[in-house]
Parts: sequence; C-alpha cells; structure tokens
Amino acid sequence: MLTIARTTELAKLREQAAQAKDAAARESSARRELAKLGEQLRVALVEKKQAEAETARAEAEARAVLERVQADQVGVCAGLRCTIAELRAELQQLRSAQPTVREELPEHTVLRFRTVGGGTTVVTGKPSTYWSYCQDKNVHGHDYAWKCVTCGDDSSSYTSHDLADMRRRSNEHAASCRAIPAGPGDTADAEKTGARS
Ligand SMILES: [Zn+2]
Repeated sequence: MLTIARTTELAKLREQAAQAKDAAARESSARRELAKLGEQLRVALVEKKQAEAETARAEAEARAVLERVQADQVGVCAGLRCTIAELRAELQQLRSAQPTVREELPEHTVLRFRTVGGGTTVVTGKPSTYWSYCQDKNVHGHDYAWKCVTCGDDSSSYTSHDLADMRRRSNEHAASCRAIPAGPGDTADAEKTGARS
C-alpha cells in the first residue's frame, strides 16, 4: 500500500518535472525568438537610419548641383551682359569717331583750338609789314588773325598785333562753333556752306 502510494507520488513528481522541463524549454525558445526579433528590429532601425541619411545626402548633392548650375547661368548671363555692354560702347565710339578729312591749316598758323563740334580754329601770325616801326618786334612784329577751318568763319579784315587778343577771339569761336569736320563723302563746298550757320 505504501509502495503503491509512493510509486504514484513518484510518477506524479516525474510528470511535474517533465512538465517543468517542457515549460523551461518553451520559455527558452520564446526568449530566443524574442532576441531574434529584437535583433531584426535593431537591424531594421539601422537600415532605416542609413536610408534616411542616404536620402539626405542625395538631396544635398542634388541641391548643390542645382546651385552650381544656377550660379553658372548667372555667371554666363553676367558675362554676356558685359560683352554686350562692351560691344555697345565700342559701337558708340566708332559712331562718334567718324573718319574726318584731314583739315588743311592756313599758312602761318601759330595756335590751334579744338571747337565744341570737334573742328579746329587757328590763330595765324603773318610777319607784319609794319614791324620795323615797332620797338619790340616779338610782340608787335606780326599781324594776327583767327580762322575756323571747319565752318569757314574768320576775323575778316580785322588783324591785331596782340596775340593775346586774337587768342581770346579764336578761343571764343571754338567755344561756340558746333560745325563738325567734313566726312570723307562731303565735298569742300558742302562743308563750307552747310556748316556755316
Ligand atoms: Zn567755326
């Protein structure tokens, strides 16, 4: 009787031990599974971060390329504007600097003035026929006159022994004469009659 009871108890204990072992094995398996999932999650997180970093890098690169292209375009446009401005200035210069016929200066020219129109007035100083009456022929030894070789105006019959006086008159005409020097196509007559006003 006692033996039977012990045997039964023993069997029960064995069964419980086996159940406990099973439970431990299941728990261990579950732990392993959990650890595996945890690792997978960690890997997934790392990959996600890497992907985000990769995306950000690609975006930054694309933006940099775009900025470079835009900067290049700005540079090219600025260069073109610069070239256009230079060409315009050159054209302007060519237009304003029309080729002119070389103006013949009168005999005895002693002074030249550039007129506002780009022409020339001169002061001539012919050796005076009366110089012998003068004490200082360096001052009074010449008959000074002025003439605008561009428009044809001149001091007419008026002459002076005073160079300073004639210089002033010549300079005054130069300051108001707007006649422009004749171009290669102009005739001498057209120059004189057309320019005089
Ligand atoms: Zn003139």
